Amino acid sequence: MARYTEAVCKLCRRERQKLFLKGIKCYTEKCPVEKRNYPPGQHGLSRRQKISEYGTQLREKQKIRRMYGVLERQFRNYYENARKQTGKTGETLVKILERRFDNVVYRLGMAPSRKAARQLIRHRHFLVNGRIVDIPSYLVRPGDIIEAKQQSKKLDVIHNSMKRMKDTAMLPWLSLDKANVSGTFLNVPEREDIPLNANEQLIVELYSK
Ligand code: SF4
Repeated sequence: MARYTEAVCKLCRRERQKLFLKGIKCYTEKCPVEKRNYPPGQHGLSRRQKISEYGTQLREKQKIRRMYGVLERQFRNYYENARKQTGKTGETLVKILERRFDNVVYRLGMAPSRKAARQLIRHRHFLVNGRIVDIPSYLVRPGDIIEAKQQSKKLDVIHNSMKRMKDTAMLPWLSLDKANVSGTFLNVPEREDIPLNANEQLIVELYSK
């Protein structure tokens, strides 16, 4: 399976924004965006600041795609899927991304990052409605119960991540039973509830060209 293997902090610096790809480090002062908030590379600091309309749209698409850890072809498929549905395409796209299994595991606090969630899912540590699901792109539906396998509940990475999760930080479309490392996806969230600092309309404009 294709995946991005280079230094992920460069991706955040490229977008000049925290994309939260590394787990705990993202919340500390070690985060490179805190210290060097300019594009990576020899000419990062001196790079031309003016950006074209196409460039703005492209950067927004790359930002969201990287944040959710989706490769280009799959991202385009999500867009086509969103386009066929009623409602605003950009918002529908974001809602589809939020339903990805790896994202839901991360949002529930069962993994420190979406990347870590993907790895845990592929290693068959999580169940949906009592059955193992090892596909990170699986789209969770309202009412689905997500939990760690009994033997996996004590894994350091899951345990530590759960410990850091504050009950008050839980998103309104999710409910969490911390003690049992189990959560429910209550409903598909509204766009305004999703903590995503991005303008998805620019993606629609980019792909509509
Ligand atoms: Fe991005 Fe996290 Fe790296 Fe900071 S530590 S640059 S937020 S991946």
